[in-house]
Amino acid sequence: MPRITVPEAEALLDQEIKVLDKGFVRLVDYMGGDQRIVQSARVSYGEGTKTVRQDRALIHYLLRNWHTSPFEQVQLTFHCKMPIFIARQWIRHRTARLNEISGRYSVMKDEFYVPQPDKVSFQSKDNKQGRGEVLPLEEAMAVIAQLEREQKEAYAGYTDMLDKGVARELARTNLPLSLYTEWYWQIDLHNLFHFIRLRADAHAQYEIRAYADALAQCAKAVAPMAYEAFEEHIVGSISFSRAESAALARMLAGGEAGLEERPMKIFEEKLVKLRAAAPVEAPDDFVPPSS
Ligand SMILES: Cc1cc2nc3c(=O)[nH]c(=O)nc-3n(C[C@H](O)[C@H](O)[C@H](O)COP(=O)(O)OP(=O)(O)OC[C@H]3O[C@@H](n4cnc5c(N)ncnc54)[C@H](O)[C@@H]3O)c2cc1C
Repeated sequence: MPRITVPEAEALLDQEIKVLDKGFVRLVDYMGGDQRIVQSARVSYGEGTKTVRQDRALIHYLLRNWHTSPFEQVQLTFHCKMPIFIARQWIRHRTARLNEISGRYSVMKDEFYVPQPDKVSFQSKDNKQGRGEVLPLEEAMAVIAQLEREQKEAYAGYTDMLDKGVARELARTNLPLSLYTEWYWQIDLHNLFHFIRLRADAHAQYEIRAYADALAQCAKAVAPMAYEAFEEHIVGSISFSRAESAALARMLAGGEAGLEERPMKIFEEKLVKLRAAAPVEAPDDFVPPSS
């Protein structure tokens, strides 16, 4: 069986997708695509699927039923450049392999993240882990100027120590989290979907969402049918707790949700998503052979 190539992914290879002010995501290589998912699933389900419509139905069936291992057969390798505070969040996703630039071996470049003024916000009043309103432009510019000044000072201290012969591994220790780092990162499609679901979500920090969107663009190019199924069954799905399910049942019966203030707020957020749902054209039905 020949190696699977996907024209949309071939066109993306080696292209830097710009992210934030100095970062990027670059698809270095990929292995497999929708066809690999279908081939590997056929090991379980036999030769039943052949046409594009049937392949799509099978892929939707797999994701709808959490049969995720065929998606692990697709691998993507990226070269990414991001500020260290984003790398800290990113690296929590353990189901990937990576190799990062070494600050012990190399002199770190004078490259720091500086937010755009419209991303400089006050602390959120109702979300301890988030941003609220954007600062007035003048105040935002003052924050940016302060960030840049402190970055310059830190980098000047770094180069001063290097000039004095201090070891790179020690001289770097006062460099701030806004410094850019780079790595090669390899992950399978199932775990990439998990990353995108968590990090492209509105609850994630804006800066990592920007990277998740770039990774999503690559995932979509490599496996468009799988990406469609991911949007349909995972991103587009809503999970209700037992209490929320009971509240929904009460509402469907014409009653009140009957939840307290905070649970009601969370429930209402889910209802907003529920009302806005825009599903894709339904795939054909895939019926696995009965065991
Ligand atoms: C909005 C948001 C806020 C967050 N805030 C915080 C925070 O305040 N503090 C903080 O520390 N983290 C925080 N995190 C990180 C979060 O707790 C997870 O560590 C991160 O999202 C990675 O998820 P994961 O473990 O499912 O992914 P992966 O590491 O990719 O793992 C995928 C799955 O594999 C399994 N798995 C992988 N490795 C192991 C293992 N060694 N043992 C058992 N099972 C394993 C688990 O089932 C896991 O769900 C936050 C994440 C998000 C999205």
